[in-house]
Amino acid sequence: MNFDRSVRTTCPFCGVGCQINLNIKDDRILSVTADFDLAPNYGQLCVKGRFGTDFVHHPTRLKTPLIRKDIEPGKPFGKARRARSLAEDYRPASWDEALDLVADRLAAIVRESGGDSIGTYCSAKATNEDNYLFQKMVRGLLGTNNVDHCARLCHAGSVAGLMRTIGSAAMSNSIQEMSHLDTFIVIGSNTTYAHPVIALSLKKAVARGARLILIDPRRIELAEFATIWLQQRPGTDVAVLQAMAHVIVAEKLYDADYIVRHTEGFDEYAASLAEFTPEWAERISDVPAAKIRRAARMFANANVAAIYWGMGVSQSTHGTDNATALVNLSMLCGYIGKYGGGLNPLRGQNNVQGCSDMGGLPNVYPGYRPVNDAEMQAYFEEAWGVKLNPRPGLTAVEMVHGAERGEIRGMFVMGEDPMSSEPHLKHARHCLENLDLLVIQDIFANESALYAHVILPAASFAEKAGTFTNTERRVQRVRPALSPPGQARPDWAIISDLARRLEARLGKRMKPGWDYEHPREVWDEVRRLAPEFRGVTYERLEKEGVQYPCYDEDDPGTVYLFEDGVPRGRGKFWPLTFKPPVETPDPTYPFNLSTGRVLYHWHGGTMTRRSVLNEIAPEPVVEINPVDAARIPTRTGDLVRIASRRGEVVARVKVTDRSPIGTVFLPFHYIEAAANLLTLDELDPTAKIPDYKNTAVAVAPAEEHHWRVELQ
Ligand code: SF4
Repeated sequence: MNFDRSVRTTCPFCGVGCQINLNIKDDRILSVTADFDLAPNYGQLCVKGRFGTDFVHHPTRLKTPLIRKDIEPGKPFGKARRARSLAEDYRPASWDEALDLVADRLAAIVRESGGDSIGTYCSAKATNEDNYLFQKMVRGLLGTNNVDHCARLCHAGSVAGLMRTIGSAAMSNSIQEMSHLDTFIVIGSNTTYAHPVIALSLKKAVARGARLILIDPRRIELAEFATIWLQQRPGTDVAVLQAMAHVIVAEKLYDADYIVRHTEGFDEYAASLAEFTPEWAERISDVPAAKIRRAARMFANANVAAIYWGMGVSQSTHGTDNATALVNLSMLCGYIGKYGGGLNPLRGQNNVQGCSDMGGLPNVYPGYRPVNDAEMQAYFEEAWGVKLNPRPGLTAVEMVHGAERGEIRGMFVMGEDPMSSEPHLKHARHCLENLDLLVIQDIFANESALYAHVILPAASFAEKAGTFTNTERRVQRVRPALSPPGQARPDWAIISDLARRLEARLGKRMKPGWDYEHPREVWDEVRRLAPEFRGVTYERLEKEGVQYPCYDEDDPGTVYLFEDGVPRGRGKFWPLTFKPPVETPDPTYPFNLSTGRVLYHWHGGTMTRRSVLNEIAPEPVVEINPVDAARIPTRTGDLVRIASRRGEVVARVKVTDRSPIGTVFLPFHYIEAAANLLTLDELDPTAKIPDYKNTAVAVAPAEEHHWRVELQ
């Protein structure tokens, strides 16, 4: 194929971080290819990376700043409320007018109610540089730590479980190890849909003789590759994992040497397992005790075994305990700090790892330095030249609930869509309608944008420079292949302009100023502040990404972590108890609803619903087991109404035994059948993550229905 130029960059969808070539003809992406000699994907791409990037050319891209027509200069805004449409309720504005307005209102709210009355979302889709500057502006100028992002809603349970046991939340091992595994557990991850290129490596491992222990309620594709498949009842992960640990301890299959050298709390933990027999777990989880024993022996008797998990583990009101149970298992067998082993939460979004690394969380500065640690506070105050707020901020869902109480008055959202990603959406929308200021900065007018006072148009991944960090801690370049449409600008440039205005209004001056000319300067600032990135220069990233920690320019980077012990010093065994999901089926709502992804779409669908992929998967489809379909009754192709205590949606039926009896599965990509209208906003007490996998619902046949999709 003839194209004008080819630009290598990083895929904007999932955390695998595939390297892609955007082949450009007449300023449009003609095709996407991949080089066979480059990590992490070595020429492989999934359907999203190969065909889904045409969203950047969609006619609905935001091209100019927009201000609500009813806003009058110098007057307070009305509350946030849903617009009829962009055309009817917004007017185009210049950048100067829009940013002056935003800066005026943010500064006024900070003066009236304090910085903690502002809530902000940074973005797992934006670059490291975008996110670093965003949180720096929020902390240094607005004076609050109320900054969070979608990691709260996907892997917060994993982060909390890993932090309390070993003191680090990053994926410990690498993609390159996956095709050479000995034994591995996959739990709560439909890897072939969510991380397709990683799934290829895992399948390759099985073809080479590796043993896969799959733990999942759904008959996902990996079930065909599993040596043992433990099909637990939804929400009973802790019971199964504790019973596996029981067997390993009872049969003395653990690694006594590793436990003595690297852990603490073993005796108390081992004693706590006495009651968690496989027979007890069978009663709770429906997994036969004999299978649990077999899986435990296979895991413990391996040369080395890895654990991979996804949102099925973490998106639970017991997400922290689920992840903790996995760490306990791995520590028991001494599989931490070894090639082909380790603890591997597969990160969802393209830069969810980097967004967290850059301090896009309410409790930590860049590099996970705690905001309430006086030494760290002083370090960043010195670096940035301003006083900082030592109080950890609110998490995503807490900010939404704070808006309902009037404690959060203003919200600035960069590249996220809380009006579709929050649980119990009806309530979330009600909360956010109480905001005095809502600013959305994005590439499309998503659902949240329609509630905003001001909308700022951002450049997409294909139109800006920077870096993303993939799930295996690999920092990789993002390169501009196209010009942004209209007046759209890179997030880092918008934030810098806004920060200068805030400095003037709030009488602050941050170091080293906001006159960055290129994201490279921002990254060099990150490298100066966080030693684990010091050796990762833009020059080194020219050819291939580098896995941090990487302390100097001669350091090759780190393929796997914890060879010399875990950051906490000693890994801590945590005794656990089993708690059932908050909401379980009953006679009125007799099914369990689980939510997740399909192969062809990505998260809220903002991008893939505007790509050619939407032609393959244009409608919300709910998967229902044949036994349940006969009870409802319904057949493939019919419409059903799915109702929970909080709301209802209509979806088309696919009858399949992928869903276990009693559980229906609805993807969360379709705003016209938003799964989060059904989910509940109870939170894990430690991680503050909601449960997107266990909602009690009723399912009934529905009449003819036409979904309303508003692509603005
Ligand atoms: Fe992109 Fe992930 Fe697919 Fe790779 S596996 S092409 S990173 S969506």
